[in-house]
Amino acid sequence: MRYISTRGDQNERSFSEILLEGLAPDGGLYMPQHYPRVNSLLMMRWRTLPYHELAYEILSMFIDDIPAANLKQIVDRTYTQAVFGSEAIVPLRKLEEGLFVESLSNGPTLAFKDMAMQLLGNLFEYELARRGEELNILGATSGDTGSAAEYAMRGKKGVRVFMLSPHGRMSPFQQAQMFSLQDPNIHNITIDGVFDDCQDIVKAVSNDLAFKRRHRIGTVNSINWARLLAQVVYYFAGYFQATRSNTERVSFAVPSGNFGNVCAGHVARMMGLPIEQLVVATNENDVLDEFFRTGTYRVRSGTETFETSSPSMDISKASNFERYVFDLVHRDSARLADLFGPTLARDGGFTITPQEFERIALTGFCSGKSTHADRVATIRRCWEQYHDMIDTHTADGLKVALEQRKPGVPMIVLETALPAKFAATIEEALGRQPTRPAALEGIEALPKRFTQMPADVERVKSYITQHTA
Ligand SMILES: *Cc1c(COP(=O)(O)O)cnc(C)c1O
Repeated sequence: MRYISTRGDQNERSFSEILLEGLAPDGGLYMPQHYPRVNSLLMMRWRTLPYHELAYEILSMFIDDIPAANLKQIVDRTYTQAVFGSEAIVPLRKLEEGLFVESLSNGPTLAFKDMAMQLLGNLFEYELARRGEELNILGATSGDTGSAAEYAMRGKKGVRVFMLSPHGRMSPFQQAQMFSLQDPNIHNITIDGVFDDCQDIVKAVSNDLAFKRRHRIGTVNSINWARLLAQVVYYFAGYFQATRSNTERVSFAVPSGNFGNVCAGHVARMMGLPIEQLVVATNENDVLDEFFRTGTYRVRSGTETFETSSPSMDISKASNFERYVFDLVHRDSARLADLFGPTLARDGGFTITPQEFERIALTGFCSGKSTHADRVATIRRCWEQYHDMIDTHTADGLKVALEQRKPGVPMIVLETALPAKFAATIEEALGRQPTRPAALEGIEALPKRFTQMPADVERVKSYITQHTA
């Protein structure tokens, strides 16, 4: 399998060449040159496989430059009961006939990002050892992404993580999760300021190309192809659990922000998984819902981006969305490069043609949005009706799933986080505290390891210099 850029760069690359990369050199995103197709024989065999074997089968269709035995070993080590809490890895919970929740959030940080990030940690360690290189991951976090990255990279050879967070502004639970890590390759730096100050420092450091090269600075952001690929697996695993035969169709509802999760569903559908609908659920930050309703993609400004009670979906633009539009315009990279390049820069967005808009239905996509009041009502309803406690993001997904569901087609809502992470809204909805997995009881009392500093680029650089020698 070779990989190409959405914007027309002529170089074809192998998986290992793009594994550690973010954007392609022309500013586009990497895509597989074609989608491998599954047939009914293959699907019949896959139906019986444990998760780690299914993952190996799917990944090896997209990765042909890691020896099979090594890839198998990486995948086997990643998807274990010890890390994900059950043999099924992503068990399905039945709410009622034809309505399911797929549990994707039983990894170390209680959010679905672990599904991909845990694999990425093992792939990075393998590839860096093969190259004889080191990588220093620099990032800014207000909570979720940072902890998933740290739990994926802790103890990994050849990798260090430098994670900036706003001092004293994360929840006590999030602080405990990140700062209790004692691994010497994990560096938590708290900045006197807000999240944007942290992000600005990361940008300033990354813009110093000489520094970046000298210290081998990289990132693990959501446009990384390997992250997206890892997520394709649980669409198949959810499908096999919800159906008895490979002729049945199912729909998925996906709480969405940067469009990585639902884009993996699109890839699964393009491979031939019988998906009826891919339901994109947004919160008040509805840039994606607006697109699927109107055909207009309009990036939001900072003042139009709201802080909500499903914070991991608070986005102003959706960084993986370009991948889907690439397929929607039939992989016309000149047109794609114009839409996401000059047109977006000039107009702050773009509108697709009526013909392209009609094509959306053929790709299975539809959408809806959910507000704080909807979340609270949905969490309450789910608890009262099904005695199932869901988090605020999953509630956005369930709310829109119920609106879009078609009779006779099972609907699977992807659970993107556990309620334990969003105690305040659970308390508001249910008048009680969420339950917390036993392993995380009392983590707030563990010793914390972090370095506090002012919002000063030079101070951060000198910290990195001292710790990468
Ligand atoms: C990251 C995240 C999302 C959004 O996923 P995308 O892949 O960015 O669309 C939704 N819910 C939770 C809990 C998340 O952490």
